[in-house]
Amino acid sequence: MIGGGIIGLSSAYYLRQSGWEVTVIDRTDLSDSCSYGNLGMIVPSHFVPLAAPGMIAQGIKWMFNSRSPFYVKPSLNMDLISWGLKFIKSATQENVERSAIPLRDINLLSKSLYQELSARPGFDFAMEKKGIMMYFKTEKVAEEEIHLAAKARSMGLDVETLDKNQVQALETEVKLDVLGAVHYRCDAHLYPNKLIPQLIAILKDSGVIFETNCAVEKIITGGNKIKKVITNNGVFEGDVVVMANGSWLPQLTKMAGVTIPLMPGKGYSFTLSKPGKKLNIPAILCEARVAITPMNGHMRYGGTMEIAPVNKKVNMKRVEGIVQSVPKYFPNIELNMPQEKDIWYGFRPCTPDGVPYIGFSKKINNLLIAGGHAMSGLSLGPATGKLVAELANGQPTSVNMDAFDPERFS
Ligand SMILES: Cc1cc2nc3c(=O)[nH]c(=O)nc-3n(C[C@H](O)[C@H](O)[C@H](O)COP(=O)(O)OP(=O)(O)OC[C@H]3O[C@@H](n4cnc5c(N)ncnc54)[C@H](O)[C@@H]3O)c2cc1C
Repeated sequence: MIGGGIIGLSSAYYLRQSGWEVTVIDRTDLSDSCSYGNLGMIVPSHFVPLAAPGMIAQGIKWMFNSRSPFYVKPSLNMDLISWGLKFIKSATQENVERSAIPLRDINLLSKSLYQELSARPGFDFAMEKKGIMMYFKTEKVAEEEIHLAAKARSMGLDVETLDKNQVQALETEVKLDVLGAVHYRCDAHLYPNKLIPQLIAILKDSGVIFETNCAVEKIITGGNKIKKVITNNGVFEGDVVVMANGSWLPQLTKMAGVTIPLMPGKGYSFTLSKPGKKLNIPAILCEARVAITPMNGHMRYGGTMEIAPVNKKVNMKRVEGIVQSVPKYFPNIELNMPQEKDIWYGFRPCTPDGVPYIGFSKKINNLLIAGGHAMSGLSLGPATGKLVAELANGQPTSVNMDAFDPERFS
């Protein structure tokens, strides 16, 4: 298993459960990854992929605003150009229609697996099943969200459209300056900073071996198989090699001769451990594309999607965009600008069509690819892990896998 984020750890969990000897290789000490500082939302509501009609026009408008929530860094980077062209081609109504059922199904599977995991004695990651609220302030977005809610309901999801007074009855601490919200009661949330370390501990207890501070640098193939995984700290072999290394996935698949398009989508979050006012239910501020989650007594604020090669720069203007949007929806939440040292950032692994890659490579028979979950990786961890184990075992899968073919752009 290469990669110890939520996707790698969940895959290790279900593989180990079905009897595999598993080694997790990660180049860090596993104390931080994209799977820690995220907003912890479990989201059957997210059945519309990022590549959807309207995103291109909106994205171009946002590119001229330094505080905007979405940004593609103009660059001559060939990977970015090729990804961008595929994204533009995918941003169609057909893609939305095609992806809705697979995304719903994998999300519902994952939510039920999280429920199962949270019932495991001693495994408490503060999961709460209160849903999430999609807030809207403008008539235009209200119309879009209400339309989407109707679609969600037709797909069997538990969703309710609420006016301002109905929302206020559920959110008693905060003042509201919104027209209303769609309450996706089908959603849930958890505290990733509790989930990940406990999952690592459970895996260690069950016999999974961890090779940390161990970066994969080379892959040796032969006869349509990965023969050796070469790291800065030893050479590894396996019957199956699972690549679950997040935004760095294409670099490793390329070493095995498999090209998959994927770009990092950087996002920021900051967490207040003593928030003045607390929300009861996680929130997405639709016009601002900002998310807020009350988790384990804290409040975490996050957002922005900067599509660009991995870089360590914290763009304070975008964080300012998050901070300034909150009182526009909740006038009595006063947020101070966090210091740069308190800002977390992570790289969402984004596929051009907004659908993850899960499956065996057709070119390299023992390579299983699991990644590209973009904004929903935390949500989809357990389902992806279970599907990886089912594929490795040659069993029928819990959901139809056609949409997740990792070589669909080849
Ligand atoms: C601001 C923000 C908010 C988010 N909110 C949510 C949310 O509310 N709900 C949700 O579902 N998702 C959310 N996400 C998305 C989610 O966090 C990601 O989709 C998810 O963490 C991706 O998990 P991963 O395991 O694929 O990758 P990662 O967590 O990035 O893990 C990949 C691992 O691979 C390792 N690695 C990379 N290259 C190598 C190599 N060569 N050798 C060895 N190891 C390597 C890395 O060190 C890393 O540990 C959010 C993301 C951001 C940025």
